[in-house]
Amino acid sequence: MTDRYGRKIDYLRISVTDLCNLRCTYCMPEKGVDKLNHDEILSFEEILRLVEIFADIGINKVRLTGGEPLVRPGIIDLVEMINNINGIESVVMTTNGVLLKDYADKLKEAGLKRINISLDSLDRKTYKKITRFDKLNKVLSGIKSSRRAGLNPVKINTVVMKNFNTDEIYDFVDMAIRNKLEWRFIEFMPLGGVHIVQKDLFISNKKIKRKIEKKYDLKPIKDAKSLVANVFRIKGTEAKLGFISPLTHKFCHKCNRVRMTADGNLIPCLMSEESFNLKKLVRSNESNIKIKEYINQVINKKPKEHNSRGSINMSKMGG
Ligand code: SAM
Ligand code: SF4
Repeated sequence: MTDRYGRKIDYLRISVTDLCNLRCTYCMPEKGVDKLNHDEILSFEEILRLVEIFADIGINKVRLTGGEPLVRPGIIDLVEMINNINGIESVVMTTNGVLLKDYADKLKEAGLKRINISLDSLDRKTYKKITRFDKLNKVLSGIKSSRRAGLNPVKINTVVMKNFNTDEIYDFVDMAIRNKLEWRFIEFMPLGGVHIVQKDLFISNKKIKRKIEKKYDLKPIKDAKSLVANVFRIKGTEAKLGFISPLTHKFCHKCNRVRMTADGNLIPCLMSEESFNLKKLVRSNESNIKIKEYINQVINKKPKEHNSRGSINMSKMGG
């Protein structure tokens, strides 16, 4: 499916739960977000029906995210069932990694292609300050298990925040080199629902890259598959670095994705003010043709570019 600006939309990100076992300061308030009632959340049957319809209009890649996707009971079965849908070529996941140690092998067996693990600090105290939980060691074990399970290339997502983790940039790069990882630096985005002083946190990826280049030689990877990250190989190593800069380098003109929330709202753009209720259509037994038409209309509402002021927070829409 191509939208009105000629962008091919082939990637669906599904938030499978609004719940999370961490409370990252930039994503959720300490007490968590208002929990959705169980019957507000799409069932597996409903998710699968919608993914089949999406596959019919050209979606071939699905990312499962959240909240924390691994806290949803039955997640392994969901991976397997989505992987078996005609037209879906890859199922991937973004996780905070806390539960990965026990899940990595099962995810691989279920057909998960790749995994992105969020990790904002390698220092136990800083990790706890950012996530409000003392679970750094669990995440590090999860990264090891994922590599061992063959979920390669394992990608690490780090939101870079001034005065929180900028002093660890070289530690991240060293760990990427030692473990042959792709480490992706994400610019902090000021999104809704977060109770921290946001304006002091932002630092551009340009500055981070400049700092890294003082010590390492970065070679651009021209044929990198990612549409949103600028990816570089660290010369003489097997590690890669990616820079995702939604605020300073908008990638809207290349954007190929839409998002679906755990309660079945379709969100055409990360910074969208608007969402569109698919659950209502599914639950009122609308035909696949009607739902397909509706999805096409929503995709055609995808804005040309974002305005940098999202009102929905990441845990709801599946970052
Ligand atoms: N719980 C999983 C995790 O943390 O990987 C999946 C959901 S989380 C919302 C997805 C990604 O969004 C994470 O990499 C997280 O760091 C990122 N994220 C959340 N809030 C953000 C913000 N305000 N700015 C930039 N990235 C953010
Ligand atoms: Fe949970 Fe992920 Fe949000 Fe952190 S970023 S609170 S792990 S959903």
